[in-house]
Amino acid sequence: MSTFFLTTAIDYANGDPHVGHAYEKIGADAIARYRRLRGDDVHFLIGMDEHGQKVEQTAAQQGVTPQALVDVLADTFCTMWTRLGISYDQFIRTTDPMHREGVRALIERIFDRSPDDFYEQAYEGWYCVGCESFKQDSEIVDGKCVLHPTRTLERVQERNWFFRLSRYEDFLRDLLTSRPQFLQPESRRNEMLALIDGGLEDVSASRSRLKWGVPFPKPLSSGEVQTTYVWFDALPNYLTATGFPRGEWADRWPAQLHVVGKDITRFHSIIWPAMLQAAQLPLPERVWGHGFVLLGGERFSKSAGVRLDLDEAIGRFGADAFRYFLLREIPFDADGSFSWERFEERYNADLANAWGNLASRVIAMVERYFDGVVPSGARTQVDDEDAAELRDYHAAMDGTRGFLLHEALRVVWQSVVRGNEYVDRQAPWKLAKDPALRGDLETTLASLIRQLARQAVMLAPFMPNKTQELWRQLGAPGQVSEQRFAALPELDATGWKVAKGDPLFPKEARER
Ligand SMILES: [Zn+2]
Repeated sequence: MSTFFLTTAIDYANGDPHVGHAYEKIGADAIARYRRLRGDDVHFLIGMDEHGQKVEQTAAQQGVTPQALVDVLADTFCTMWTRLGISYDQFIRTTDPMHREGVRALIERIFDRSPDDFYEQAYEGWYCVGCESFKQDSEIVDGKCVLHPTRTLERVQERNWFFRLSRYEDFLRDLLTSRPQFLQPESRRNEMLALIDGGLEDVSASRSRLKWGVPFPKPLSSGEVQTTYVWFDALPNYLTATGFPRGEWADRWPAQLHVVGKDITRFHSIIWPAMLQAAQLPLPERVWGHGFVLLGGERFSKSAGVRLDLDEAIGRFGADAFRYFLLREIPFDADGSFSWERFEERYNADLANAWGNLASRVIAMVERYFDGVVPSGARTQVDDEDAAELRDYHAAMDGTRGFLLHEALRVVWQSVVRGNEYVDRQAPWKLAKDPALRGDLETTLASLIRQLARQAVMLAPFMPNKTQELWRQLGAPGQVSEQRFAALPELDATGWKVAKGDPLFPKEARER
């Protein structure tokens, strides 16, 4: 059994979950569920980034402690992930004592293994509180941060611990070139190689003007104890979640996959591997930089002010339909747009009319012509063509070509279309009128039930609840989530007792 430890970015505790957060969790969840159906030992980590100046400021504005603020937000996020069916195994919070200890241990290990990698230096620059970072000239327009034009930039000077990222240029170039799968899609990798070729600057590892965080384990020469700066606090969560430096952390580390947005690919494919290399720790196997969900051409983010109510989007047709829509419509390797019209089109065409209708027709015919007991029937062309597509499905899901979730769904829908065509061509209602054609009727419906069962398994990573409901209506044994892809080619539905239920995707459904 191979282990598959995958992570999403941890969400910053400064506002409620939005569609951008949800898209990343849903995509990673589909990958986690897919790996479980392969039989892998999956560990799926998500969490919250809870330190920083913005949290401190927001808490002060609300008259609560930072801890009280992040406790409420962590609850809000967890409730949302449960509603969306995110099957995480662990939820890490950077305020966890275990994480705080792990951060300090990692920094101490770097001091120990690579003593020259941290150094003290004075730093002065224009500081944006919105970004929690010093801004370069190219990021400042009319004296304001381009991302936060309503905020005032502050002139800040302080002495910090710096991390000698510049030392790792050759190492990182070699990593990205010799292990092309380390960072995908390829467009992201090319961006990072260009960035490295332009020269890497050292980065701050501690800050003075920051209270809400993990104390940096080593004081400055002045004796001042600073707070660990964002990268050295947030990025190590993937490692500290394993229990590092205590216990059996090495059984789980390194992670097989970090799923992150393209805006933070740089931190995960440049700063993070350099930190691990400095600590002489194994690197993660892969980083996948997904694109953004756009609404009217803008990405979802708190600061951009793009609004789409997540509750309303889930409530429109239910969590599974929302998951399906996002992963079908937004390519997981690029940007894509959300629109209500498109959502309704996909719901009606793909889910209600194509797949839901195929399921209800076939199950109804087994009830009508065979008292609900699935007959035995020889392999047909439907089984053969599905077997060929199962290979395409795996190629889209297993990472060999990246994580092309939208392609996997397209492949399954070819099977759905073929199923409906097969029903129309075979016309079981005609076969049923002629006792001499009973064998053909058995073959036809047995083949279609097998096809629906295979589709349920292939779609279980995307729509866990609807596929389980179909699995139940098919009378298939156990849970759909307990199935294994390896068994699909030999799947036999003979003797299953179908039980027609409510339509899987009622038209104009509203979950209220
Ligand atoms: Zn800013």
